Amino acid sequence: MRAGAWSRFLHTAPWSGVLCLNYHRIGDGAASVFDRGLWSADEEGFDAQVRLLVSRFDVVSPADLPGILRRRRGRHVLITFDDGYRDNYAAALPILRRHGARATFFVATGFIDEPRLPWWDEIAWMVRSSVRTGLPASRWLAAPVAFDAPDREAAVRTCLKAFKRMPAADHAAFLDLLADATGSGRCPSGPERGLWMTWDMLREMRSAGMTVGGHTVSHPVLSRLPKPAQHGEIDACGRRLAEELGEPMRYFSYPVGGPDAFGPDTRDCLRDAGVEFAFSYYGGYRGFDDWDDLDVRRVAIEREMTPQSVRAIVTLPWLFGRERRARRTGAGL
Ligand SMILES: [Zn+2]
Repeated sequence: MRAGAWSRFLHTAPWSGVLCLNYHRIGDGAASVFDRGLWSADEEGFDAQVRLLVSRFDVVSPADLPGILRRRRGRHVLITFDDGYRDNYAAALPILRRHGARATFFVATGFIDEPRLPWWDEIAWMVRSSVRTGLPASRWLAAPVAFDAPDREAAVRTCLKAFKRMPAADHAAFLDLLADATGSGRCPSGPERGLWMTWDMLREMRSAGMTVGGHTVSHPVLSRLPKPAQHGEIDACGRRLAEELGEPMRYFSYPVGGPDAFGPDTRDCLRDAGVEFAFSYYGGYRGFDDWDDLDVRRVAIEREMTPQSVRAIVTLPWLFGRERRARRTGAGL
């Protein structure tokens, strides 16, 4: 298709429903020793994306969803962020305000209460700090992992994927094994300072019209936990949000967020906690005919995407479902 025809097609291709975009970090993470996959866009790119969204769609908050679902028409976009990194406040908030756009921030309350380096950032740090040339095969790594030049990005991705696949009971042992096999040791304290937003920042975001939702306390894959532990993570997260922000947790996003990251027990716990809408993270969007309050699908925005690919996502969201996403990076937090 010629460029002009493609552009006209993008402008007229129809969809209706709610398209949710998900971001993690805003800024330049290209040289970071931590998990570079977490940077969704730099400030310039995010600014261009928000400008596009505001000019073409109805950018809404989760509180607007009940009305939208009653009217069942229109193209609505939700801008969401997961985890609670401080650049959400320092970099994303000013851009959102400049464009008059609202967004929703799902935070793991344990990171806000007691700042710590999360496992994905620590795994990346251990691999990148290593003086060795690779990792031997082990219980969790089916084959040896060579540290690829120049930045060991492929080795980091392999270790992160292995971590997400294993049972939660193995996590601590795997981190210790990596500390030993890389020769890096566990990451000393320091980087966690200033990594996450504070409750004061979150209150300021609320005052600026943003929504704050839950993302558990310690960011486990909920479906891997027994039901009482899922209940504990969801309940304690909701309690901290209510204590600090003065309103109940009505919205939630699943850590990692793939179709197998939550199950019927998770849904029960969310209903018990009074959550109205919960957001997954495996691509696609929800039309009005296949709506599911506790599986509102979201599309990942990632830093290697060009402005054209972001434009294509918001125009043809059904092309960006789970299979496509799994082929690309297998990432997701
Ligand atoms: Zn997350």
